[in-house]
Amino acid sequence: MSDLSHLFASNRLWAARVERDHPGFFTSLTAQQNPKYLWIGCSDSRVPANEIIGLMPGEVFVHRNVANLVIHSDLNCLSVIDFAVNELKIQDIIVCGHYGCGGVTAALAPSEGRIFDHWIRHVRDIAKFYRDEIESESTAGGQSRKLCELNVAVQVVHVRESPILHSQSARGVKVHGWIYDLADGLLRDLTPMVDSVRALEPNASVR
Ligand SMILES: [Zn+2]
Repeated sequence: MSDLSHLFASNRLWAARVERDHPGFFTSLTAQQNPKYLWIGCSDSRVPANEIIGLMPGEVFVHRNVANLVIHSDLNCLSVIDFAVNELKIQDIIVCGHYGCGGVTAALAPSEGRIFDHWIRHVRDIAKFYRDEIESESTAGGQSRKLCELNVAVQVVHVRESPILHSQSARGVKVHGWIYDLADGLLRDLTPMVDSVRALEPNASVR
């Protein structure tokens, strides 16, 4: 077994630093959490939710998986959304993808038949559906970036169409689509793009 004692040492330093800068911080969080945002993001280690939006523990409720997917039958993700909306009364849900996403890029390559490919199949379906959009980009990098954006837009639609968002308690909840650029550390708002993606679907009414 590898020695992870350095992580405990790092944790003690971190906790001491937080307590020094914010006296009583941990005690105040033991009673309840009151996050204002739900973040649905990618598992990628380079896209840590709290850090890139500058929020402390307790300020953002987080669900992450490979390629930031919201699958209709994924009880894990749906339970997080349910808890966020109905228990924590969160009003803003952020689906955040990122350029250079390994899960999204893998969906543009042949399947290797691994367990991972079953999950990525959801992204592969998006790539097939929006093939013309993606192939309008001339480079592999451009096509990957386009699919990263389309994937965010589709997952926003999935959140908006989930039964949880149609319940009375979800009135006023907004679902945002963002993308993070590893190259400059900045977020971009893709929410306006969601409706245009919906408009590309045959027989789909924009909403
Ligand atoms: Zn990713």
